[in-house]
Amino acid sequence: MGIFNRTLLILILWSLGQAGAQTPPHLRTPFIEDWGQVKPETLERQAKAFAGTFFIEGPGDRKEIALTFDDGPSDDTPALLDLLKKENVKVTFFWQGQNVLQYPEIVRRALAEGHVLANHSFSHPNLSKMEDGGMWWDYQMERTQQAFQKVAGFQPAMMRPPYGFLNDKQIKSLRDKGMTAILWSVDSADWFHIWQNSQDEMASSKIEAVIKQYIHPEAIVLMHDSGGRGRKPTIMATKALIPYLRQQGYGFTTVDRLLNIPVRQAISGE
Ligand SMILES: [Zn+2]
Repeated sequence: MGIFNRTLLILILWSLGQAGAQTPPHLRTPFIEDWGQVKPETLERQAKAFAGTFFIEGPGDRKEIALTFDDGPSDDTPALLDLLKKENVKVTFFWQGQNVLQYPEIVRRALAEGHVLANHSFSHPNLSKMEDGGMWWDYQMERTQQAFQKVAGFQPAMMRPPYGFLNDKQIKSLRDKGMTAILWSVDSADWFHIWQNSQDEMASSKIEAVIKQYIHPEAIVLMHDSGGRGRKPTIMATKALIPYLRQQGYGFTTVDRLLNIPVRQAISGE
């Protein structure tokens, strides 16, 4: 190898190392246009501007990932809990307050089985569009905090905004309350694949393929345990993915452990 080639090789290796160390948090999966989800550039800007409060992934040092499920609990959730128990995988649920009140037994079961529970608003609006005078907090966030308090005996420190939408003022307000906003780096788009494929096996294999393609160390993976025509394909995909990802050397953890942040909001006076 000539001196020129050797220098080039060293430069390439050096730049790869740099890229690994300096890549800011970003969404790995392709964005599905026109489906009312927050744009990747908005997520990435907010993750950079509000580091420590607004997360889309972990630092990327460890081959650990956090599976997350949104919108439940629902009638589909117990089958998912059965699977997770069998596989000894703990996940993070971002649940709607209205469903927490409707399915208190499922909430308590998930908690007893070691899963982490977090706030996903009360009834799933675009929070960033709610007027500033505290409505988003009082009617959506606080109501859900109270639902968790009533059913599970604690108030979550983590929240995930529906569709990923929060404005900067709301992120600052969460920071003031000692809370964190948890977004995602791998969007399974399970809702989209289930909607597009009436056949469960087809939908499930699409969900699997997306996650297999884009998984990375310290990923936060977005899936859903409620909504649409049911979430059976999501559960089928999860069942197939757990052994596959383990074989690839990945371990499963919860979002709080991945990011080293609290699960329960510290309420003043407690
Ligand atoms: Zn949602």
